[in-house]
Amino acid sequence: MPDNGIISGIAGDGRLRRITSRLADAGYNVYFVGGCVRDHIMGAEPHDYDVATDAAPEEVLDVFGRDGGFKVIETGLKHGTVTVVCDHLHVEITTFRSETGYSDHRRPDGVFFGKDIDADLARRDFTVNAIALDAVDGSIVDPHGGIADIENRLIRCVGDPAERFGEDALRILRALRFSSKLGFDIEDKTSEALVSMRGLLSYISAERKYSELKQILCGKNAEQIIIGYPLVLAELVPEIADMIGFDQKNRHHVYDLLTHTAKVVSGVPAEKPYLRLAALLHDTGKPPCCIEKDGERHFPGHADISEEISRRVLRSLRADKWTAERVCKLVKYHDVNFHGSERGVKRFLGAHGADLFDDLLILKRADNAAQSPAYPRNEEFDRLESVKEKTLAEKQCVSIADLAVNGKDMLALGYEGKEIGDILAVLLALVIDGELENEREALVGYAKSYTDSADSV
Ligand code: ATP
Ligand code: MG
Repeated sequence: MPDNGIISGIAGDGRLRRITSRLADAGYNVYFVGGCVRDHIMGAEPHDYDVATDAAPEEVLDVFGRDGGFKVIETGLKHGTVTVVCDHLHVEITTFRSETGYSDHRRPDGVFFGKDIDADLARRDFTVNAIALDAVDGSIVDPHGGIADIENRLIRCVGDPAERFGEDALRILRALRFSSKLGFDIEDKTSEALVSMRGLLSYISAERKYSELKQILCGKNAEQIIIGYPLVLAELVPEIADMIGFDQKNRHHVYDLLTHTAKVVSGVPAEKPYLRLAALLHDTGKPPCCIEKDGERHFPGHADISEEISRRVLRSLRADKWTAERVCKLVKYHDVNFHGSERGVKRFLGAHGADLFDDLLILKRADNAAQSPAYPRNEEFDRLESVKEKTLAEKQCVSIADLAVNGKDMLALGYEGKEIGDILAVLLALVIDGELENEREALVGYAKSYTDSADSV
């Protein structure tokens, strides 16, 4: 396990050393704490560095405020946090803290600054996040067995789990998030407590729930979390409760609805959180529209119901507009069948663009891969993809804007108001179907004969 050599790794960045030495030289204790220590022990590159010190916030301001090329931001002075910036590197420095009373199940009623690293570590959420690394000599302070839990790949509360989740219900979601992200199991007592106390999530703001949900879904263990903790997730997306053990009774499906959903989530790229959200929500409409015939279940119109549910869920979680739209579209079209036809692909490209088409195919592939292996559709999806490639490469006409005529031309032919959009749509359909060339003369000729025939009726 780590020795003094660790310090050159974690604080190898000269800017970090300048910050920590400055505090240490002024006579204060300085520790790296939280995620950066955990990540470093796991051999991963920390994405940011948190520092804890016995210097009071005003003393930190004093040490860095004077000179020496540091910028100081008073991030959360009341809570003891000051951000020090050294050559674009931001480091949060927080005075050792202890906390009391959590009457709103989220934030402490009182925060006390202390002189003791042990008290500071005791208020932290999980043992793997409650390890301190002395920034001067590289020694480790690990009173809660965090290193052993990293070795055993376990998320375990510091202290009594029920008490800790009762203080701050956000920790319930943080436990799932770290388990998903790090691929760690959740220790039994911690696991039992977070499930039984899930109702406290009503105290957590929609924005925090949404942020945690996305991170849970984008972790490497998302599938296991969805299968293992559906009742907790149902506090955020109530429809998940109806998916637990829901037998699809259909030859295309070998998994119950929740397991299928979890596999689709892990089958789409974590780099695109909206795709993971779409995967989570794509079949939420199945339970409410299930019909049974000859021993098989069918779900007519489920994609539209899933879209409605997705819209409601994303609004309740205050998702940003772009994500909500993207997810709803993917959910709405996830079951669309192009029948391998060029026409369907081109119409979709014209209406929604190539980006959405690409995402849709990723979702459809993951959806199919999480169904019965007896019905693989990879060849069909490959074909659709090559139709798209060819359409784009040849700059084929897929939308009204691509037509060799426009609204003005139709006006000149005598079309008015809504008729203009209608005739352009007719021309587009004919061009896409290969029945008309996308050439001005042919299009004008057709539009003319169309009015003539309409007039004569
Ligand atoms: P990440 O890599 O996702 O940033 P992290 O462990 O650094 O993970 P942060 O949210 O940045 O997590 O918090 C920093 C540290 O502060 C945590 O490691 C933990 O020790 C402590 N902490 C954060 N939030 C809480 C909380 N709600 N309850 C108790 N301790 C917390
Ligand atoms: Mg962090």
